[in-house]
Amino acid sequence: KANRKFHPDDTVVEIDGQRIGNGYFGVIAGPCSVEGEEQIISIAQRAKAAGANFLRGGAFKPRTSPYSFQGLELEGLRLLKLAKEATGLPIVTELMSTKFVDEFEADVDLIQIGARNMQNFDLLKEVGKTKTPVLLKRGLSATYEEWLMSAEYIMSEGNENVILCERGIRTFETETRNTLDIQAVPVIQKLSHLPIVIDPSHAGGSAYLVPSMSKSAVMSGANGLMIEIHHDPENAWSDGQQCLNPNEFEELMVVVKQLIAIEGKH
Ligand code: PEP
Ligand code: MN
Repeated sequence: KANRKFHPDDTVVEIDGQRIGNGYFGVIAGPCSVEGEEQIISIAQRAKAAGANFLRGGAFKPRTSPYSFQGLELEGLRLLKLAKEATGLPIVTELMSTKFVDEFEADVDLIQIGARNMQNFDLLKEVGKTKTPVLLKRGLSATYEEWLMSAEYIMSEGNENVILCERGIRTFETETRNTLDIQAVPVIQKLSHLPIVIDPSHAGGSAYLVPSMSKSAVMSGANGLMIEIHHDPENAWSDGQQCLNPNEFEELMVVVKQLIAIEGKH
């Protein structure tokens, strides 16, 4: 179902009135983690003012260490809904467990499956039974074929609203968190009709890499960007080192919007 051979036209995924795919470019912005009501609402307002179309924010966090902040969980979901009420931005957030599929189906506009769960087949099948669009991140060391097979797990259950997200892969390089595989865009577009968005934040793992990689992403033909932003990156509860502050994001968006237009997208 994900294969271009049987579906020559590019898929456009509709997410609460917004679109991603083909000529529609989506910008998803927000903090790594939802930290509180004022935090998420003020960041959502700045994201929207700068031109983002979606609000991201982790409520359930897949942290490397069990002693790190694990997310506000269902309270985080409630705060995301408040931020949506305040700004109108659809919500993108990660689902880690089949336990909360019903809550996510009710409240989330685009369900994120994180890199670490790309091959959690039970989870993929459960989101495949919903009608909610899914943002499927590439596993840390997944091949294109494995990634597309994971999309197939979701689609084969009936949910064909899948967007792929390249977020950097593990290589021998240690200077950057991961290595952004920008080739994923043309390769995936050759193999599949599904939209693909780039997450330069988790790819490079440093804020200074985000502007150049975001611009490269637009020019590569990607269908969207997912960028972590925070009002006070130094004190963020997770991933602060890779977050842009709202002013930096606004500056970047001025250029990104021009490049989207050059690419013939909107
Ligand atoms: C995230 O988007 O906050 C995240 C944890 O991403 P990934 O699954 O790509 O590491
Ligand atoms: Mn993060």
